[in-house]
Amino acid sequence: MIGLIGAMTVEVELIKGSMTEKREETISGITFVQGKLEGVDCVAAVSGIGKVNAAMCAQTMILRYHPRLIINTGVAGGMGKGIKISDIVVADSVVQHDMDTSDLGDPKGFISGIDRIQIPCDEELNDKVRAAAGAVEGLACHQGIIATGDQFVGSKDKLNRLMEEFGAVACEMEGGSIGQVCYINKVPFTVVRAISDNANDDAHMDYPKFLKIAVKKSFELLTELMPLLA
Ligand code: SAH
Repeated sequence: MIGLIGAMTVEVELIKGSMTEKREETISGITFVQGKLEGVDCVAAVSGIGKVNAAMCAQTMILRYHPRLIINTGVAGGMGKGIKISDIVVADSVVQHDMDTSDLGDPKGFISGIDRIQIPCDEELNDKVRAAAGAVEGLACHQGIIATGDQFVGSKDKLNRLMEEFGAVACEMEGGSIGQVCYINKVPFTVVRAISDNANDDAHMDYPKFLKIAVKKSFELLTELMPLLA
């Protein structure tokens, strides 16, 4: 069983639409759709936006469906040179950029309990993500740190801060908390997102304009990826 999590309905509807042998159940307000995607057993869910929703979804999915790996799919803000709208970014690790106990002397992003800043994604899974991206014509795939926080990043100041403090190549609002849940539960995971905006001063215009195009890119990649995970 492969777990697929998207934050928003738009990020999961193509997946759901392509799944066969579907069965649905709703737990704590989150609907889980179990079935097959490209012939591979999976469970897909819309978590809702932000770290709390995403963590609830990931933990419930793990306890109820015992996925052997979890993929967080969807869209993100791209950061840094060469990362363009509709490119793919796969996380080698995720961070929670708004976790901040630095006034107590901790480094920014330090997560007490697991006592780390960066949460590593599964390398074997990422190899397959890159292979799948290579199979989609004209799809550029970047790899690096994805920064998660409970805020839409839509200004040069915020974007520069995330690049400087965390070396991030993309930002979004769920991957880092799904990563924390997976890390604690020892479930291999990765975050694969298509770029919907550049997290800069134009992001408020680009995001609604390119959301659907980016979602489609993520989905194209996923349909290539699923058979590699069988
Ligand atoms: N009210 C809006 C909120 C969208 S928030 C709506 O319901 O459509 C943006 C979503 O896309 C989040 O789930 C986040 O993970 C991702 N995202 C895309 N670009 C982002 C950016 N520049 N900063 C933060 N999150 C971004």
